[in-house]
Amino acid sequence: MLTSVVAETGPRLPRPGAWQKTGRRTLAWLLERLPERGAIMLTGALKASRRRRGRPLFEPAEGAEAVTRPVVCLTHDLDRAACWEFLPRLIEMETALGFTSTINVLAAGPYRLDPGYLRGLAETGFEIGLHGLTHDVALGFRSPARIRETLARAQEAVGLVVKGFRAPALAVSEALLTELCRAGFIYDSSVAAWRGPWGAAAGPYRYPGIDIIEVPLTLADDLLWRDLGLDEASAREFFWQTLDRVTAVGGTFVLNVHPCLAAGRLGFWEGILAGLAERGAMVVPVKTLLRSNHDPADEETR
Ligand SMILES: [Zn+2]
Repeated sequence: MLTSVVAETGPRLPRPGAWQKTGRRTLAWLLERLPERGAIMLTGALKASRRRRGRPLFEPAEGAEAVTRPVVCLTHDLDRAACWEFLPRLIEMETALGFTSTINVLAAGPYRLDPGYLRGLAETGFEIGLHGLTHDVALGFRSPARIRETLARAQEAVGLVVKGFRAPALAVSEALLTELCRAGFIYDSSVAAWRGPWGAAAGPYRYPGIDIIEVPLTLADDLLWRDLGLDEASAREFFWQTLDRVTAVGGTFVLNVHPCLAAGRLGFWEGILAGLAERGAMVVPVKTLLRSNHDPADEETR
């Protein structure tokens, strides 16, 4: 069922302008120096200032074969210490339903990785991906040499073979994709489906000219709460509507749930996961979706 899920071509990323690069780097500089509470308030204020009226549009790609069984790639980006601490609770909820997910870690973030725990998760079908060395929101807008060095340090520090990447604050660029490819990554999942026409695809695709598969992010939980300011009833409705639209064109729904945010919304996510189980959804890590496109040898080391 999951063969040939990767489209051969996809949109290019827009090139970041000088102002965008400087803005991102300045923001990253500030965020590194603020205490966690201050950093959360600053990013929240910036997001609120750009909050769109109404809802973002999802326009899944046309032409895909319609399926009735939803395919959901569940991912968790571990941004903060609270994300690491709450992760086991989410894993427990998912395991109880027979679901597995991708866990994107910071190799040298504000929590200490437990390689034994992560290896255990990988052995039970979960995927460990990389979310960066630290949460550098300007990663994609730095020099290729610096990106290369950061990725190499992160790969070494994480101590596990990782093939997937999501850029902190989705700061992706062609320079970053090029370095990911060079570092041996198979896929990136940093293009937001709600940001502009280049991200509107409802499934993985290959970048023109770079040997990396993009797995566009359909929905992130901070979009629901912080960016759109939805209450739980509206967020629930929004979630199922979006899932239906993506499923109707045979697409893949890539969901990111930050454990630190889920901690305060446990009932909400329990309801969503139970609803997915009821619909017979496949809830899998990104690696499972892409397996048919992987070199089987990679699976051994995952
Ligand atoms: Zn993050």
